[in-house]
Amino acid sequence: MTTPTTDTAIDTATAGETGSGTDARVNLIGLTREALAEAMADIGEKPFRAKQLWHWMYYRGATDFAAMTDLSKTLRTKLEERFVVARPKAAREQTSTDGTRKWLFEFTDGQKAETVFIPDEDRGTVCISSQVGCTLTCRFCHTGTQRLVRNLTPAEIVGQFLAARDSYGEWPTPMDERRMLSNVVLMGMGEPLYNFDNVAAAMRIVMADDGIALSRRRITLSTSGVVPEIHRCGKELNVNLAISLHAPDDDTRNVIMPINKKYPLKELIQACRDYPGASNARRITFEYVMLKGLNDTPAHARALIKLVKGLPCKFNLIPFNPWPGTPYECSDADTIHTFAEIIWNAGLSAPIRTPRGRDILAACGQLKTDSEKLSARERRLQAEKAWAEKEAAV
Ligand code: SF4
Repeated sequence: MTTPTTDTAIDTATAGETGSGTDARVNLIGLTREALAEAMADIGEKPFRAKQLWHWMYYRGATDFAAMTDLSKTLRTKLEERFVVARPKAAREQTSTDGTRKWLFEFTDGQKAETVFIPDEDRGTVCISSQVGCTLTCRFCHTGTQRLVRNLTPAEIVGQFLAARDSYGEWPTPMDERRMLSNVVLMGMGEPLYNFDNVAAAMRIVMADDGIALSRRRITLSTSGVVPEIHRCGKELNVNLAISLHAPDDDTRNVIMPINKKYPLKELIQACRDYPGASNARRITFEYVMLKGLNDTPAHARALIKLVKGLPCKFNLIPFNPWPGTPYECSDADTIHTFAEIIWNAGLSAPIRTPRGRDILAACGQLKTDSEKLSARERRLQAEKAWAEKEAAV
């Protein structure tokens, strides 16, 4: 875990990338408004300059001070000498046959994380990473085989969204509902609640009215179930909450999500019941990956219904997306439909998600930043070794 970064001091370590590892200029992206005003004060400028810069960076999407035409030429030169407005660099960009796009973003220290854009008819969702790697070891998740390298900074988190919008040229910020990149899910690499301060700082920027202006109702934070931070998330951000549930009982969940041993289902479900604003209009989403023979029987479905009784919620049933070396298989289509029907009949929404971007390994649980060429058996052994090492380290 890195140090939280909600303070207003300008700190190149937390301010984000500069676009070049050798560039010592401070990246203005990711700074709080207060930090931006301080940065202006440091160069002898009035606080209102911060407001102008904010508009250029987050409403217009400018990355070049020369484009900021309501600033004097002298000021633009001064800014250019000290600062940059930088995004992470796209080391790789892939577009699936279904339109899903995946980027491998590289940060100034050479670390990388993946971001995915999923276009739908009525929305476009950007799935953002919060960490490089992950401390957790969810058995169905490709990222879970990768050790945690570090938390992403606010600049690196918001920078993924900015870079995705650059890719589609969605600037200036559309002020009506017709946005292509209309939603954010914190569901990429990492556990966002283990990097909450930085995630919250980035989401405050994304939500700010005079910039990107994305409503909190269009942001969903997905957690494996870090119970103490769930309450904080509701209180401080109040974005939509999604839980990676994947099992209706502790015995099954302990196997596929070892974090359950620390925060068992009873505590997790209580945290969901206590989440502020949970109502029928704003239901908590339970993600449920369908794993053949493990969590997919009618008895599991009935146990789920009992578990969430009285809680305003919906399910997302996710056919498991295999990745190289995984020990699991996806449940059969009939099994998934029977499972969904049992939940539907209990009055709960349980759509079966269509896997997106499978051909570019962009689907749920498939993200991982290395691309070693290994056989399936070698990959499986490697995954088992990685899980064992991570669990021993906890
Ligand atoms: S599902 Fe999320 S929390 Fe679990 S290992 Fe994967 S990235 Fe980490």
